[in-house]
Amino acid sequence: MTSTVGFIGLGNMGGPMAINLVKAGHRVLGFDLSEAAMSAHADAGGEKATGVAQMAAEADVIVTMLPAGKHVRQIYMGEGGILENAKPGTLLIDSSTIDVDSARAVIAAASDKGMPMVDAPVSGGVAGAAGGTLTFMVGGADEAFEAARPYLDVMGKTIVHAGGAGNGQAAKICNNMILGISMIAVSEAFVLAERLGLDAQKLFDISSTASGQCWSLTSYCPVPGPLPSSPANRDYQPGFAAEMMLKDLKLAQEAASSSGAATPLGAEAASLYSLFCNSGGQGQDFSGIVKFLRGTS
Ligand code: NAD
Repeated sequence: MTSTVGFIGLGNMGGPMAINLVKAGHRVLGFDLSEAAMSAHADAGGEKATGVAQMAAEADVIVTMLPAGKHVRQIYMGEGGILENAKPGTLLIDSSTIDVDSARAVIAAASDKGMPMVDAPVSGGVAGAAGGTLTFMVGGADEAFEAARPYLDVMGKTIVHAGGAGNGQAAKICNNMILGISMIAVSEAFVLAERLGLDAQKLFDISSTASGQCWSLTSYCPVPGPLPSSPANRDYQPGFAAEMMLKDLKLAQEAASSSGAATPLGAEAASLYSLFCNSGGQGQDFSGIVKFLRGTS
C-alpha cells in the first residue's frame, strides 16, 4: 500500500529517512525551512511541499523530524500548523527527540482532533537513518502504533512499543541517561588505572568479564587499544556527538524535575557533559569525556 506522506524536517536525519519512504514507493511531500534540504529531497525523487498547510491537507500520514519540543509544538499546534489543516484520521508520527511533556501535550491535542499520533524517537544516528536500520522507541495507543508500524519498518530495523503517549521519549532519555553515566564511570576507571600504573588492556580484560562490565566498556571502550571499533581509535570522531548526549541528559533532567524523580548521577552527568562541551568537546564523540576527566581535552 502506498500513501501520500508529508515529511517535515529534512535535516541530517529526516533527509535520508524521507528518501527511504520514497524508495518504498510512497509519494513524499517534503518540507523544510532550508531550500538546500528541499532540493536534495526533490533530487532524490521526493516532492517539495509549498508549506505546512498544503502538505497537511494532502497527506495521509505526516512524519516530523525537528530539533526540539518548541519546534514540534509550533508545527503541530501553532497557527497554520498540522492540526489546523490535516484531515481527521491523518496518522501523525513525531520522530524528533523532545521533552516528554511536549510529546504528551501534542498527542493529546491531536487526539482531540481525531488524529492518531505516536511519539517515535530514534537511535542509530545518521548511518542508521541512511541505511533504514534505526531503532524506534514508540509511545501511543495500540491502534496508532499498529498504523505507524509499516512506515517505521521502512525507516528502521527495530520497532518497540514502549507504552502510552510520551513513553517513546521516556525510553530514549532513560536509556541515554544510563549511557551517559556509565560512560563517565568507565572513563574515570581508566584514568585512575593510568595513575596507578595499571595497563588499559589489563583493566579491559579483567572488567569486561567481571562485575564492572557494561556497554560503555565492552562495546564502546573510551580509550584506544582494547576495542579497535570504538571512536577512541579515531581521535574521538563521532559516533554519537557529546552535544547530542548533553541534549538527552538535559531532557532527562527536565523530566526528572517535572516528575519528581531523584536522579543525582544524571544531574552530575549533565553537568560534566556541559563542561566538556563548553571546553571544545561538543563535536567530538561522547566517549571523549575521558580526555576531559584526564585533564587533556
Ligand atoms: P538537523 O538540524 O540536521 O535537522 C533539523 C531540520 O529541521 C533542519 O533541516 C531544519 O531546517 C528543519 N526545521 C527546523 N524548524 C523547522 C520548521 N519550523 N519547519 C520546517 N523545517 C524546520 O537535526 P537532525 O540531526 O536531523 O536531528 C533531528 C532530530 O533527531 C533531533 O530531535 C535530534 O535530537 C534527533 N536525533 C538526531 C540524531 C543524530 O545523530 N543526528 C540521532 C538520534 C536522534
